[in-house]
Amino acid sequence: MICFLDLDGVLVNFLAEVHKFFALPYDVDNYPYEFGRWDILPPKNMSMSKSIFWDSLDEDFYANLSWTKDGKQILSFIEEVFGKNNICLLTSTTNTPGCSAGKVKWIQKNLPCYKRQFLIGPPKQFCAHDKAVLIDDKDRNISDFQFHGGYGILVPRAWNSEYKSMYNSFDVLYSKLSELSNMESVWKT
Ligand SMILES: [Mg+2]
Repeated sequence: MICFLDLDGVLVNFLAEVHKFFALPYDVDNYPYEFGRWDILPPKNMSMSKSIFWDSLDEDFYANLSWTKDGKQILSFIEEVFGKNNICLLTSTTNTPGCSAGKVKWIQKNLPCYKRQFLIGPPKQFCAHDKAVLIDDKDRNISDFQFHGGYGILVPRAWNSEYKSMYNSFDVLYSKLSELSNMESVWKT
């Protein structure tokens, strides 16, 4: 079985960094948006169009993002379950010049052993098959991946449907992956 692993919102602290970039306050414990709602950007109280907002996040922004609090723990558990060779980072990109280049730089700097094990692009469901699992923080990505024949595990975050478990993201992931690792059929090649 192989694992496709999302970056933003799973390993990378994207939303907090967006607020920092615009010098806006942000505290996930006092979450300023509607829980479970995905489409929250541009940040609250900013009078900025969506296109200007996304265009302002440049290569340097994406190259220098910080990790989520549980990102390293999540990654090391996933490595334990699948083995490093069976993990591919799978991250979307915006239309902004510099986004993809910044993400490649982030990987080279933070996860050099994955510098040849990543894919960048929005249609994650094209990677789906019956021996593949996607670990991601976006409901739609998970449902599309499952619809196309893959397995999907949603990492609970404030902005997705499992927000009630956002403080137990690792535990949820742990139990779902343990369940998956007990399904012999998916591990046979
Ligand atoms: Mg994500």
